[in-house]
Amino acid sequence: MFKPTIGLEIHAELNTKTKMFCSCRNEPDPARPNSNICPVCSGQPGTLPTINQEAIRKVIKVGMALKCAIPPHSKFDRKNYFYPDLPKGYQVSQYDEPLCESGVLEVRIPMDSEEGQVPYDKFVRVRRVHMEEDTGRLLHPEGSDHSLVDLNRAGVPLMELVTEPDIRSAVEARRFAEELQLIFRYLNVSFADMEKGQMRVEVNISLSEVKDGKLPENEKGMGVKAEIKNLNSFKAVERAIDYEIKRQSEALEKGEKIVQETRGWDDVKGKTYSQREKEEAKDYRYFPEPDLPPMDHSEEFLNKIKSEIPELPSRKRSRFAEEYGLGRTEIENFVQNKDLGEYFESAMSELSQWVDETNGSAKVGTEEFLKLSKLCGNYLQTDLQCLLNGESVDRPEFLITPENFAELICLVYQNKISSKIAKMVLEEMYDTGADPSQVIESKGLNQISDQSEIDGIVQKVIAENPKPVEDYKQGKEVSFQFLVGKIMAASRGKANPEMARQALKSALDGLQ
Ligand SMILES: [Zn+2]
Repeated sequence: MFKPTIGLEIHAELNTKTKMFCSCRNEPDPARPNSNICPVCSGQPGTLPTINQEAIRKVIKVGMALKCAIPPHSKFDRKNYFYPDLPKGYQVSQYDEPLCESGVLEVRIPMDSEEGQVPYDKFVRVRRVHMEEDTGRLLHPEGSDHSLVDLNRAGVPLMELVTEPDIRSAVEARRFAEELQLIFRYLNVSFADMEKGQMRVEVNISLSEVKDGKLPENEKGMGVKAEIKNLNSFKAVERAIDYEIKRQSEALEKGEKIVQETRGWDDVKGKTYSQREKEEAKDYRYFPEPDLPPMDHSEEFLNKIKSEIPELPSRKRSRFAEEYGLGRTEIENFVQNKDLGEYFESAMSELSQWVDETNGSAKVGTEEFLKLSKLCGNYLQTDLQCLLNGESVDRPEFLITPENFAELICLVYQNKISSKIAKMVLEEMYDTGADPSQVIESKGLNQISDQSEIDGIVQKVIAENPKPVEDYKQGKEVSFQFLVGKIMAASRGKANPEMARQALKSALDGLQ
């Protein structure tokens, strides 16, 4: 029996305005190759780099969010290797003194994982987060006998995060990477779009024999690891790990040796393939970067960064559960769609004011408040999200203010309009930005609460539906509901539902 030990290396391009060591725009712009370059990032002799403070702040911010230690002293090193997309012949990176060390990230693993049939929380330790620069890109024009180099990406600030080998399955690896992407976006340090290569995941995986139900205690007893590169989607991370577990265990069962190597991922074939033998650190001949001063962070500098960290996804999940009593799925939707979650909170703040003003007993935290938050959450995540069709609420074309949305929820909550009318009103609000009472007035959607008008509709429905009326008299309760439906339809959803029920009940009772 073999068990996998998995560690991840995750690169993310930072969304700073300028590059890491020069003032070129940080804009890879593949349509205009070599448009954002200068002597520094194209590696001309005699040029001197300067450190982009904004990039340093962003990496430290990530470290703090992952509960890392931030050593007061840090420095850059040269990592020497030759590749045509690396103009200097070395990459400026960090070796023995990274910006952040020893953190942890807790992720929720869903029920569908192999490890367990119930969801569980997984702690993955973060070994380090450091700063380096991205390389250029090689282009291989189809059918030609040459390659081209685009240096727009050379010198783009790149953050590298390395985990400890705490991951035990493909699902755990995928969830870790997903949560990390979310955190990068909350912190606004990287757009982290995997398809655009702004976030790249590499997997280190080895299989070890389980003896007496235990994995080997130290690295010596562990299996030989393979490194998988070129994973540009979460799905690919998951599939590549599953493939490697199968490949390595089949090889080990046959008594074959696993080679320590770097493997690529072929997404179409769904297979990993050998690329080259893995380099050791000594192959890179690391040494301190002589052109950049070492960094000593003042306490003030670090405190300032700390104060800029917003509420993170994990905290938001527990707060939304406590304050609004929403279910796990709704909460996750608001956490993933940050703008919508913030809009929900603005609407809820309007609603809580309204609740306080109109009904002293329905203060925040009471049952009535929780009912309102469920109703509000529900309208946002079904009807409004349907209208939005993937667009954000955080754009000028979106016209519904949180105040107006809250007012609509109030009207539904007080039974002043039916859910059918609410839907029509919401559509009109979405198109014009009008407030709900204005829409109701102008479209003649006011609820019918006039007794004689409702009685008239009831009489008409009774006359037109003799069969259900007869069935009801015979004791069939469902026919009553059917007739209520007919009344609502006849009034185009405008009849006050409670009055309609009462009127129907007394009319039918009168017939007996
Ligand atoms: Zn430059």
